[in-house]
Amino acid sequence: MKAAIVGAGVIGRLLALLLVNNGHEISIFDQDGDDGIKSCSMAAAGLLTPVTELDKSDILIYELGMLAIAQHWPTILNVLQSPIYFQQMGSLAVTHPKDHAEMDHFISFISEKLKNNPMAFKKLDQSMMLQLEPGLSKFTYAYYFPKEGQIDNQAVLTELKQWLHAKHVMWYSHTFVEHVQAFEVHYHQSCMKFDMVFDCRGIGAKSIFHDLQGVRGELIWLYAPHVKIAHPVRFLHPRYSLYVVPRPNHIYLIGASEILSEDQCAISVRTTLELLTAAYYLHPGFAEATILKTVTHCRPTLSHYLPKIKYADGFIAVNGLYRHGFLIAPTLVIEIMRWLTKGISSLQYAQLWEQL
Ligand SMILES: Cc1cc2nc3c(=O)[nH]c(=O)nc-3n(C[C@H](O)[C@H](O)[C@H](O)COP(=O)(O)OP(=O)(O)OC[C@H]3O[C@@H](n4cnc5c(N)ncnc54)[C@H](O)[C@@H]3O)c2cc1C
Repeated sequence: MKAAIVGAGVIGRLLALLLVNNGHEISIFDQDGDDGIKSCSMAAAGLLTPVTELDKSDILIYELGMLAIAQHWPTILNVLQSPIYFQQMGSLAVTHPKDHAEMDHFISFISEKLKNNPMAFKKLDQSMMLQLEPGLSKFTYAYYFPKEGQIDNQAVLTELKQWLHAKHVMWYSHTFVEHVQAFEVHYHQSCMKFDMVFDCRGIGAKSIFHDLQGVRGELIWLYAPHVKIAHPVRFLHPRYSLYVVPRPNHIYLIGASEILSEDQCAISVRTTLELLTAAYYLHPGFAEATILKTVTHCRPTLSHYLPKIKYADGFIAVNGLYRHGFLIAPTLVIEIMRWLTKGISSLQYAQLWEQL
């Protein structure tokens, strides 16, 4: 099959990998360069946290995410044959002692959605918590989520680019696509024909997804040699929710705001103050950190905050990855491959699909 993928974020690149691996001839179109610097996917923090995301998301996201962490990411990383930072050591949630009601609410919400699954999390007293994270000495207890993890999403995008180039995929970078439809990609006032067109344009696909909107997120990258935190940590607070994502070489990502806006201007003073104040409270060593960069982007979001796959003969559009792109994209692309190879009756997540 000769196929076009329009949009080279995480979903477009993973789809390209699977299609090439299955012997298809792929052309990729993106308005950005092939490094994907301007994509939402490059802005993400790489958290793979299906359990703690249940606080705000549907059980379906948990199911898609658990499969991705346990099965699909390891398989994809094996195909890429590159030492990408990928951890499945679990994550922690902590809160200020006076805000313990916040934690109780968070945990009861998650338990209810998981129907009290005892394997999903564990309460740690202070000594157990300090064995895992000696740097969190300010806190009296934590919850531990053993199945959660993280991935270096920037490295994933770069490695996917290199792998796809090595397979001689046609990559039309800096190419704004004016229109997509079944069998056709329109750009620079010309039209190219394909057996199949995949629309993976994220926030750029409003002509196909009429309820699509951007949810602004802001993130700060710190270099903090005085901080030692090994697991992703969520800090629950009545006014904001913060996470700290450790990366190798003393780098920490502090995020992320969530604002119903498509404004992609620089990070606000308010968010900067909130994120850095909370980070400093979490670990005083962050006071000595240097700010490497700040990142702002808009998460492609559909109503009900769930992804959707629209299909027609010669056309598939996938969107609405919201704050879960890296968490769920591997399972979504496997589902799309199932549709392509075995047809509609083989789908595992039929509720995601809609005929155009
Ligand atoms: C601050 C922040 C933190 C996040 N943290 C996490 C996290 O920890 N874990 C997680 O799983 N997710 C996270 N996310 C969410 C994740 O980044 C998104 O869900 C994901 O990137 C969406 O991927 P996508 O491929 O659908 O879209 P994108 O990455 O936006 O890719 C779409 C591509 O389409 C191209 N395009 C659009 N229109 C056109 C056009 N007309 N012509 C040509 N090309 C076009 C764009 O250039 C872009 O490259 C975070 C998001 C933000 C903003």
